[in-house]
Amino acid sequence: MYCTNCGRQIDPNAVICVHCGVRCGQVNTYCKNCGGTTIPNATICVRCGAPIQLYRKSRLTAGLLGFFLGCFGVHNFYLGYNGKAIAQLLITLLSFGLFSGISTVWGFVEGVLILTNPNATDAKGVPLTD
Ligand SMILES: [Zn+2]
Ligand SMILES: [Zn+2]
Repeated sequence: MYCTNCGRQIDPNAVICVHCGVRCGQVNTYCKNCGGTTIPNATICVRCGAPIQLYRKSRLTAGLLGFFLGCFGVHNFYLGYNGKAIAQLLITLLSFGLFSGISTVWGFVEGVLILTNPNATDAKGVPLTD
């Protein structure tokens, strides 16, 4: 088996890659079966035809993070929207909480959208799981 993050050979039973420390199945840069690079969001490897399991993030987790920690942009960090996440974090921190209402409402609205939009995806365009 190959690490899906760094493409190096790892033990078939490994849970975390010994080379890069990334949890197996969390990224899909390399094919687990042949070690070749994969096309983003492809469901089978173009080199060996092995099915690629996309690591899908949880809609519920993202939504709840938006509700409770939205003012810190945690839900956007979770989904990989780092630009938006940093903006929300900075609004809260740089205003010493003065404008945290803005990022709280922003995060809350995004949490609702994530939970209600069946086509919600993460930053890589991978659909969320229910
Ligand atoms: Zn690795
Ligand atoms: Zn392959």
